[in-house]
Amino acid sequence: MNLKVFEFNMLPTNTYVVWDEEGEALLIDPACYGQGEQQMLARFLTAEGLKVRHILCTHFHFDHVFGVPFSEGLCGIRCEAHEGDAWWAEHNADEVRAFGIPYPGTPPTIGHPLSDGDVIRCGTLEFQCLHTPGHSRGGVCFYCAAEGVLFAGDTLFAYGGMGRTDLHGGDYAELLYSIRTRLFTLPDATVVYPGHGPSTTIRTERQFHNL
Ligand SMILES: [Zn+2]
Ligand SMILES: [Zn+2]
Repeated sequence: MNLKVFEFNMLPTNTYVVWDEEGEALLIDPACYGQGEQQMLARFLTAEGLKVRHILCTHFHFDHVFGVPFSEGLCGIRCEAHEGDAWWAEHNADEVRAFGIPYPGTPPTIGHPLSDGDVIRCGTLEFQCLHTPGHSRGGVCFYCAAEGVLFAGDTLFAYGGMGRTDLHGGDYAELLYSIRTRLFTLPDATVVYPGHGPSTTIRTERQFHNL
């Protein structure tokens, strides 16, 4: 598995590109904001000769989906997200303006619904969709058992962190439950790639949570 991480937009948010030996690629949380970041992503995909087969959204908070419409146009496919975040798809532009940030272009919509247990295949790579609500209702993580990696969105961060639960659809008890039952049950050595900040492992984070 090959991996590239970009830190995009003002928050800043991790965008991951994952691909196999044949260049079959997944784009996770395309967060590019504005033409400079869009071109950075496009140039990378072209330079590596990657064919993006899935655009996956860990959740539909605006900082994670700024680059969805651009990426859909570039790759000729629609994004995939859990419909529990339909409220965010409808309200993203308003929420961004409330932050005092001008909304760039058209807000994205959910192209294809994702459900817990869905298997996402891309060349030789296979990811499982884990529904982990709590940070948002439609929050999901993408787990590849063969590679021992998890893309966690804002469900889990390095150094004992987890996503905020004060936004629409957030629920602290639900987030803790998701982390404990869905993520801390994964193998210790699983490498976690969060939506913000550096990577970590399940072992390290379980220790931070005293579990
Ligand atoms: Zn979020
Ligand atoms: Zn975020």
